Amino acid sequence: MREFVSVAMKTVRVKKGWRFKINGTPSPEIENRLEVKHVAATPSKIPFIKPRLLARSGDQVKIGSPLFEDKKNPGIKFLSPGSGKVVAVNYGPRRVIEEIIIALDADESCETFETVDAKTLSRLDRKTLILKLMAGGVWPFIRQLPYREIANPKLKPASILVSLDSADPFQPSPEVCYNNQRSFFDMGVQALRKLAERVTIIQSAKNRSIDWLNQLVTHQVLGDYPANDPGVVLYHTRQSPADNHAWYINGQDLLLIGEFLSTGLYPIQRVISFSDGTIENSKHIKTRLGIKLNELYSSHENMDHLRWIVGGVLSGYTSHADGFLGMYETSVMVIEEAQKSEFFGFARPGSDKLSNSRTVLSALSSAPLKVNSDMHGEERPCINCGYCAKICPVDILPQFTYKSIYADEIEEALAHGLLDCVECGLCSFVCPSKIELSELLIDAKHMYRREINQGA
Ligand code: SF4
Ligand code: SF4
Repeated sequence: MREFVSVAMKTVRVKKGWRFKINGTPSPEIENRLEVKHVAATPSKIPFIKPRLLARSGDQVKIGSPLFEDKKNPGIKFLSPGSGKVVAVNYGPRRVIEEIIIALDADESCETFETVDAKTLSRLDRKTLILKLMAGGVWPFIRQLPYREIANPKLKPASILVSLDSADPFQPSPEVCYNNQRSFFDMGVQALRKLAERVTIIQSAKNRSIDWLNQLVTHQVLGDYPANDPGVVLYHTRQSPADNHAWYINGQDLLLIGEFLSTGLYPIQRVISFSDGTIENSKHIKTRLGIKLNELYSSHENMDHLRWIVGGVLSGYTSHADGFLGMYETSVMVIEEAQKSEFFGFARPGSDKLSNSRTVLSALSSAPLKVNSDMHGEERPCINCGYCAKICPVDILPQFTYKSIYADEIEEALAHGLLDCVECGLCSFVCPSKIELSELLIDAKHMYRREINQGA
């Protein structure tokens, strides 16, 4: 019998943010892309871990075999998303492990773990559950604010936020991800209820199309990107300082936890949204964790002129056709590399320029625009226009915060709300001086975390 009853839902209104005006929003159509040749784990894309390899090049692995663990938290293991042979371990600068690549074999054999049903789960104590999730490789899907690192299993947070969707239309739609997944979702929520005092389930008001899910939503969010980011919701709802260290998980990752407990297998399916800016190719793809990016896109042209953006148009990272999907990422976008800079581009009227500024012509139209990688100008000094502060969803004053960072006044940057930064990228996007504000703020946050950890 299902344990959950309808909850009194709160509405969170987020006034600042940005409504996407970009061509190629993925359609609800789903394509299956499960039969692939290679998958990889990408340790360098997981913040703050120090990976220690548990598999070597040439090893034979199954789905769920350990590939590496976090040296600083040895129980936190990362398991193989495929069965086959480890064909390469690629290192980046300073011997950072970038990728552990597996050439898949036909049989897809799996490691097996003990299954848990709802009744057994209700009797499990918190510590046993945590050990189970760590051994099964699904613990890293739970992350911790404000630094967005893997949750520390030794702590108990005041709350866990589950984010079901995004106000970014280039992220997968709940309709596609959660339909027919109720049993895994329920199992996942039941597990989270053992880990924290409160479980907050967040969804956009506009996406409430699945009845059983609606009954579980505790907070519906009104607002533009990044309104339903867990950090933004927390900023607008937090009740005590303990909430600053809340944990959070993406709804799709919660399904993976539910699936792992129910089936005893390491779950590998992932629904992603894919866009190349055209209507015909922009859709949802049911695929698997760690897929090679060029196996997602069947364009047979030379792909050298393309830039691959993984994990969000404004907050994701740049990759390439031979790169792999990171474990947290749920969207891939392909845009054209700008071939040449526009001559005096900053002075042109800009009817086709993607911008939030009222000074470019495109602001007069709501028509979506095609994007490429052109920055339309070089970095210049701050002109104190205030656009960055006007758009920041958590009321940081990025123009003053970055100046404090440059002046090495970290206390001042903290007073401006540095740790509330949700890493959405909007301040960089709107800055007419092309200052990489979000990158500077994120780097400063990471540096501060390293400092306090060293001092601890
Ligand atoms: S400072 Fe920039 S990146 Fe951080 S939350 Fe505000 S707008 Fe987003
Ligand atoms: S948007 Fe850029 S130029 Fe304008 S105040 Fe912020 S940092 Fe300065």
